[in-house]
Amino acid sequence: MKRIYSSHNLAAVHHARNLLETEGIRAVVRNEFLSSAMGDLPPAECQAEVWLLFEKDLQAAETVLKNAFSLKSGEPWRCNGCGEACEAQFTQCWRCGAFREN
Ligand SMILES: [Zn+2]
Repeated sequence: MKRIYSSHNLAAVHHARNLLETEGIRAVVRNEFLSSAMGDLPPAECQAEVWLLFEKDLQAAETVLKNAFSLKSGEPWRCNGCGEACEAQFTQCWRCGAFREN
């Protein structure tokens, strides 16, 4: 097992996992419920994480996530489909699935 991604944003973590699964890379989400269950832990310990089932997928997984997350960074953007405010790393609205237009 190899950790490939972690974030306080649960939607981002699931998005990352979905991206990997779409590419045929097996991955699981861990620590999904930690943040609510363990209020005393330091923030780094409460991040939800995406773990690869197979370490051989590491390079492919990094490429997938890099392409998905690193292109658009900076300010959150507002979805034209549903008006939801989306994190900068998303290229697609997590709520309605509309693609970012700018
Ligand atoms: Zn939307």
